[in-house]
Amino acid sequence: METIQITLPDGATREVPSGTTAAQVAAQIGPRLAKDALVARVDGELVDLSRPLDHSVNLAILTSKDADALQVFRHSAAHLLAAAVLELYPDVKLGIGPPIENGFFYEFVRDEPFTPEDLAKIEAKMREIAAKDVPNERKFIPKLDAVEIYRKSNQQFKCELVEEKATEPLVSFYTTGKFIDFCRGPHIPSTGRIKAFKLTNVAGAYWKGKEENPQMQRIYGVCFIEQKDLDEYLHKIEEAKRRDHRKLGQELDLFSIQDQAGPGLIFWHPKGGIIRKLMEDWLRDELLRRGYELVYTPHIMLLDLWKTSGHANFYRENMFGPIEVEKADYQLKPMNCPGHILIFKSHLRSYRELPVRLAELGTVYRYERSGVLHGLLRVRGFTQDDAHIFCMPEQIEQEVQGCIEFAWEALRVFGFDRYEVEVSGGDPAKPEIYAGSSEDWKSAEDALKNTLNRMNVPYKYIPGEAAFYGPKIDVKLVDAIGRAWQLSTVQFDFNLPKRFDMEYVGEDGARHQPLMVHRALFGSIERFFGVLIEHYAGAFPAWLAPVQVSVLPLSEKTKEYGEKVTEHLKKSGFRVHLDDRNEKLQAKIRDAQMQKIPYMLVIGGKEAEAGTVSVRHRTKGDLGPRPLDQFTIDLRQEIDSRQIL
Ligand SMILES: [Zn+2]
Ligand SMILES: [Zn+2]
Repeated sequence: METIQITLPDGATREVPSGTTAAQVAAQIGPRLAKDALVARVDGELVDLSRPLDHSVNLAILTSKDADALQVFRHSAAHLLAAAVLELYPDVKLGIGPPIENGFFYEFVRDEPFTPEDLAKIEAKMREIAAKDVPNERKFIPKLDAVEIYRKSNQQFKCELVEEKATEPLVSFYTTGKFIDFCRGPHIPSTGRIKAFKLTNVAGAYWKGKEENPQMQRIYGVCFIEQKDLDEYLHKIEEAKRRDHRKLGQELDLFSIQDQAGPGLIFWHPKGGIIRKLMEDWLRDELLRRGYELVYTPHIMLLDLWKTSGHANFYRENMFGPIEVEKADYQLKPMNCPGHILIFKSHLRSYRELPVRLAELGTVYRYERSGVLHGLLRVRGFTQDDAHIFCMPEQIEQEVQGCIEFAWEALRVFGFDRYEVEVSGGDPAKPEIYAGSSEDWKSAEDALKNTLNRMNVPYKYIPGEAAFYGPKIDVKLVDAIGRAWQLSTVQFDFNLPKRFDMEYVGEDGARHQPLMVHRALFGSIERFFGVLIEHYAGAFPAWLAPVQVSVLPLSEKTKEYGEKVTEHLKKSGFRVHLDDRNEKLQAKIRDAQMQKIPYMLVIGGKEAEAGTVSVRHRTKGDLGPRPLDQFTIDLRQEIDSRQIL
């Protein structure tokens, strides 16, 4: 009998008879692997475990640990869904059913909408079929027969797919019990392993995504191989809902978006406003300490300026329309860069002045489609913590390092300690699409990479990801529930200095073009605020909390001492609320907890007599009585050191 050679991922080889399947190889290796095996990778291609191997190959047996296996698993779950729906509603027409991030969907045409009760029924049917451990079997059917099968069963969308997509005379199908699907696979061997899933929702979609086509109903599900992964995912979704900044923004009275004013425009209420002030104060102090100069530029400038910068051309889609005044067109600014360039150019610069670092909390306006607006995260007007650095080539590494250190400090102070870093570079195959010389690009990319290497910051380099005007570093912070948010950017620009004929007088007396770097740490104050709300679930650390202390007198009799305590704390510079309503203590505590106020001071007769306060913390609970002066010192210390508790 002819033998073939199987090379496993660790380099080990095996001689097996031709026609051996990957499942059989797995069984030879061990019963554990045979049981865990989901799919095989043969010479880089994913295939069914049951496919016979007819020549020497590289073979990997994939289990739940492999991300590719997970997507195959989810694809099989989509087939299981379709099989269940067909059993319950034999008249539905089938569309497509692929795996997606975190799960799968299958689409159907049915006259009645699928209700939540239907989903529960379908899910139960899926579990029933899964429990029977029905095999997923591959079949090859002549194309004409395949079309005929689908025509007879009135599956016109499937007919269409076979006619369009099947290029070979024999067409690949998979069956799961009575359900048959035109599908290239691969699939896991049978339905028995599919347990950790949940149908989540139904959404409308046009067949093939085209509006002129019929409406399909897509049933979505989430699916994992292991139950614990599904539980973790569902928990994360619940957490994200609980932390939604739009909901908390209203409950805690932080900000609003007003129908009367228009979508995507943020109103900062007093409690949000105080947090913004703290963010801005920290930033401005830190900017000055780090050698930046603060500037202010107009919100509206001549459209011609935006023609010079090029924004009126390549950024037009993101801008509000021009406003005509005295026969000249003006433009609401979508960016702060041209304003800072005009300040740089206001006099001839000498190399001795460089680097020039101009910073502005610059409010910009961008046109975003109403469909993509999202709370504080996607808006039409926002304030960037923007800065532009103009420097000489020999200064760039130091400047990049300064930006990164500044970003780390910003993230640390506001309570983040995990981040991901990406460097976006040019595509070496298409030098013609980029502004600036290839030497400039190389030195800029080197500066970014060298700086990160020197600082021991791990990063991902993505060639071809950069904008046409320069390479950049992006920093994504990771929040309390593991979500990554893109915030800080350090971006080179070889385009604007040229367009604006920027120059400085070098040591050699000749004119040179400065290097330009755009950099933002929070990105947008609005967006960063949204991220902060979700990261802390509204329970800000004491230094950021809009109200730091709630004073709760037990009764009318202790109200006066309560007022004294409140006055004392206010004079000491704390944000204090006196809750002197005629309510039970329990109700007052509950309300302070709902408002996520860090400290509650309970004021009773004993406290009034002794000059103490009974301290309660929103998460640590009752901390017992303390002299008022001691509480004041402790809280001052907690706030000044910006402790994250
Ligand atoms: Zn399929
Ligand atoms: Zn800029």
